[in-house]
Amino acid sequence: MSDLIQELTAPNKVKYQQPLGLFINNEFVKSTSGEKFATINPANEQEIASVYAAGPEDVDIAVKAARKAFKDASWKDLPPTARGKLLNKLADLVEENANTLATIETWDNGKPFMHALYVDVAGTASCLRYYAGWADKIQGDVIDTTPNKLIYTIREPVGVCGQIIPWNFPLAMAAWKLGPALACGNTVVLKPAEQTPLSALYLATLIKKAGFPPGVVNILNGFGRVAGAAIASHLNIDKIAFTGSTATGREIMKLASINLKNISLETGGKSPCIIFEDADLEEAVNWSHKGIMFNQGQVCTANSRILVHEAVYDKFVEAFKEQCKNVSKIGDPFEDSTFQGPQVTKAQFERVMSYIESGKSEGATLALGGEAYKDVNGKGFFVQPTIFTNVKDEMKIYREEVFGPFVVISSFKTEEEAVRRANDTTYGLGSSVFTQDIKKAHRVARNIEAGMVWINSSNDSHYQVPFGGVKQSGIGRELGQAGLHAYTNEKSVHVNLA
Ligand code: ADP
Repeated sequence: MSDLIQELTAPNKVKYQQPLGLFINNEFVKSTSGEKFATINPANEQEIASVYAAGPEDVDIAVKAARKAFKDASWKDLPPTARGKLLNKLADLVEENANTLATIETWDNGKPFMHALYVDVAGTASCLRYYAGWADKIQGDVIDTTPNKLIYTIREPVGVCGQIIPWNFPLAMAAWKLGPALACGNTVVLKPAEQTPLSALYLATLIKKAGFPPGVVNILNGFGRVAGAAIASHLNIDKIAFTGSTATGREIMKLASINLKNISLETGGKSPCIIFEDADLEEAVNWSHKGIMFNQGQVCTANSRILVHEAVYDKFVEAFKEQCKNVSKIGDPFEDSTFQGPQVTKAQFERVMSYIESGKSEGATLALGGEAYKDVNGKGFFVQPTIFTNVKDEMKIYREEVFGPFVVISSFKTEEEAVRRANDTTYGLGSSVFTQDIKKAHRVARNIEAGMVWINSSNDSHYQVPFGGVKQSGIGRELGQAGLHAYTNEKSVHVNLA
């Protein structure tokens, strides 16, 4: 074991080399201060490893590396097809190392291994491959004004991009940010969340192996209010892309205003799911259960507010409870049959438990769950899948994002009421509608104030499709072709032919 790399054996017996340093210029280095922090396995509360924490000086070193790389011919003049090849190579390496990456993700985050492997890691490779394909298809326009002028536009990379990502999908969030940024020719300083620092460091080894020039991707672990704030406020960073809570997004926007950074934010949600009386109830239960309970409820688009037509309300609530009992199997995330692992940290566990208390004290009915769950050793940050009914619109549990296996189910009488109440929120990220009436489905889809509407499904996002929010759920779009716009500036060139 050295200070910068450590051989680890995960609970599933996978042995691998875990980097611990800051990844700058394709090398792992110690932080200037030498400060480290520990990361915890949320399933048994034991420490996994300690990694180096970046301070403002380290951010500055990484930004200089990224700026140098941005201007260096090895990246600047690399043909777009070659950029795409590098991203494809990285996707290949992610696939080759899928078992190790999924192991790290499960160990550090607590998510079930099967989900880590088939959703997170598979999604990471797909996203990188998708943007690899875009690298040589980024084009400007020719604009016809008068016969005496030739006007064309060039889509140029924005420059050095600061990317601050959350802990709920550590690898996939890195891919959503790196894919488009690199396809467009930017360079990056990425900060993973301090709750889940490990998988991005392993990804860094693959980035180097894929052949990206030094300084193109720099990955710095560290605390939000230190390293994150230093990135958001750095004068030599051109763009900031952030995914996380609305409160932190607001803070980042303020910090980024110092040099008017190009900004994209994907923040919180309290996404409504409207179930009409004519819906296929079994399908609605299947999708809405996954839509809130998947990933321990730690999904920004989770359908955390379910509104059900009064005619089918009781039937739906009963079926949803049964679904939780039958499908939401809690336990060791390395067990193949586990659907629900622990919340990512003690702080998140306590947050969910405090909302359970709030629901009880505000007088909602606890229909299922509401308790912590411990493993055989009495450990782990697990929470039972929890359902509250008889919820009033002004209750905290109806209005605030809980980010756990926690759902409120309420009834409505008319379509007008359902849409009005669905929209009665400061958020506008996901939403879903269940009905067999296609006119009603599309009408409601238009009337909902959200960045995304799922009709007769929930949360089956896809890397080809724009993802993002309205209102206080964010600014800009990730994924799809739209995701490229966040990483290019369009330059207009006017040629006088007169
Ligand atoms: P959570 O509240 O769930 O921890 P956050 O939105 O605070 O989520 O965190 C998401 C990401 O933002 C993490 O990488 C975190 O370190 C970072 N972050 C937190 N606070 C700040 C801040 N003040 N400035 C920049 N980044 C921050």
